[in-house]
Amino acid sequence: MTDSIALPCDGCGQAASGEHFARRLQRLEWTTRYRPVHINTLLLGAFSPQEERDFLYAPGEEFHGEAAHLLDALGISAAGKAADAVHAEFQRAGFFLTHVLECPLGKDAGHQGAEAAGLLTKRLEPVATRIRRSLKPKRVVLISRALGPILEKILALELGCPVVLDNGKLFEFDGAAPENTVARLREALAGPARD
Ligand SMILES: [Zn+2]
Repeated sequence: MTDSIALPCDGCGQAASGEHFARRLQRLEWTTRYRPVHINTLLLGAFSPQEERDFLYAPGEEFHGEAAHLLDALGISAAGKAADAVHAEFQRAGFFLTHVLECPLGKDAGHQGAEAAGLLTKRLEPVATRIRRSLKPKRVVLISRALGPILEKILALELGCPVVLDNGKLFEFDGAAPENTVARLREALAGPARD
């Protein structure tokens, strides 16, 4: 008898252990708390970060990685503030962050690999439906280089709002120079009408 039957996770489509589901529910709970009623800008990444401290909505002391770069790009200072105050500010500004896979990618699937692209592709329709019917943002910003292989597919989806790109390319917060991405996203968001 095996101790676990791997069911597909509703947040990412990967075969999931009990631990995976527990982590999924925890991140969902943290995220839901700070979902704006009216979402202005939806930030869409590829995979939820492996490390909790890189996950924007985690209640930790400090923001690292993707979370830190996003706050920087969106002009939200975390210095001297409790995490929940930062989350509230992010929410009040109408920002919401989600990922095509709402869980980290399993360790055995390479980030740029065919398996990762396959998982992302499978999630696209449900994610598009969620954006169109539930999240209803005014615009979507794509923030992961890992979305590159499926960019054309994303742009072909009916999202009900514009997709903000960096001169036709993705904002690569997971790329080699996230600092440059921070500056470019700042510029891009300063341009279009806010509401
Ligand atoms: Zn999952």
